[in-house]
Amino acid sequence: MDLYEYQGKQYFRRFGIPTSPGGVADTVDEAVTQAEQAGYPVVVKAQVKVGGRGKAGGIKLAADAEEVRQHAGAILGMDIKGHTVHRLWVEHASDIAKEYYASFTLDRPAKLHLGMLSATGGVEIEEVAATNPGAIARLSIDPVTGLDRAAARRWVDEADLDEAARDQAADLLVQLYTCYTEGDCDLAEINPLILTTEGRVHALDAKVTLDDNARFRHPEWEEYAATETEDPRERMAHERGLNYIGLEGSVGIIANGAGLAMSTLDVVNQVGGRAANFLDIGGGANADVMAAALEVINADPSVKAIFVNIFGGITRVDEVAKGVIEALQRVDLRSPIVLRLDGTNAEEGRSLLAPHLSDRLLAEPTMLEAARRVVTLAGA
Ligand code: GDP
Ligand code: MN
Repeated sequence: MDLYEYQGKQYFRRFGIPTSPGGVADTVDEAVTQAEQAGYPVVVKAQVKVGGRGKAGGIKLAADAEEVRQHAGAILGMDIKGHTVHRLWVEHASDIAKEYYASFTLDRPAKLHLGMLSATGGVEIEEVAATNPGAIARLSIDPVTGLDRAAARRWVDEADLDEAARDQAADLLVQLYTCYTEGDCDLAEINPLILTTEGRVHALDAKVTLDDNARFRHPEWEEYAATETEDPRERMAHERGLNYIGLEGSVGIIANGAGLAMSTLDVVNQVGGRAANFLDIGGGANADVMAAALEVINADPSVKAIFVNIFGGITRVDEVAKGVIEALQRVDLRSPIVLRLDGTNAEEGRSLLAPHLSDRLLAEPTMLEAARRVVTLAGA
């Protein structure tokens, strides 16, 4: 789960990482109130989950209420790389002397944490990596030993941050590492990390990705989850407890198991179709789950045909078949369904379904044949 900047900064503060005082605003009037509270000059910042907001015109300095009105009015509703701005973060503006870059993420092949630190910040790190890779000091961190103050201090020297920033930066990096590990982040990134003209080091931006697998031990993440998805299909699916990702195509997909769902996407692609979603109904494919899955897919107007691909293992295909039949009585489907049912009790399942088959509910013996049929029906 990705956080908005204002949420990321809130998360940072919990671990002692310094940020500028500020507040969120959903209207121009609220922006002015927040600006008065933060103290002028302020910076008005679009809250969207994409980088490069500055270049896109989504970040503006304002010296007084009049300028806040002007910028807040222009930024609210603005489209930044396909994301509409509904919320602003207004914070006291900093006097920037230097912009740095700092992040922690997982180095999967090495099975270690990776810290990246650069005296060249404020620009996309990918750009620095491409044009001036030597400007990034990389630090591999063993999760068992962690990152102590002394190692952080040496790292800061290696990255060649300004002398005036080094001690504070080392403290901040230890805090950021704690946020990343104890806070269960997949990514904790500050770009830019700044040295102000008064000699203070703090986070001017926050990019935080939380590890969804750790959600069970973070009840406080629920407020982040509440603002998470903008896609109404995904919100509906998550409310029904389904593992769902919306895509751009016209073939709705329901499969049991993430691996089978991915293979189904591949096979649909292979025969020239495009999937409208990824939906893994998991192990217990009963009528409730099947009905919920069909409801979510049915609500997507771009879906023209639905592919239900079940391979019974522990899940018994006759149970799934009953689920499909019952679900069809509950949900009024716009699109035809193609079923491929195989595995444990497949024969029993197919005979249960036989009397229900029609030109709206078809069965195919193999995944490939089912994919061909569903793609034809979707008209792709
Ligand atoms: P991004 O473009 O989405 O990464 O948004 P950032 O929050 O990183 O802001 C982009 C740029 O705006 C920064 O690199 C700064 O140059 C500038 N900026 C942001 N906040 C301030 C501020 O408080 N004072 C000044 N002078 N510039 C700021
Ligand atoms: Mn940034």
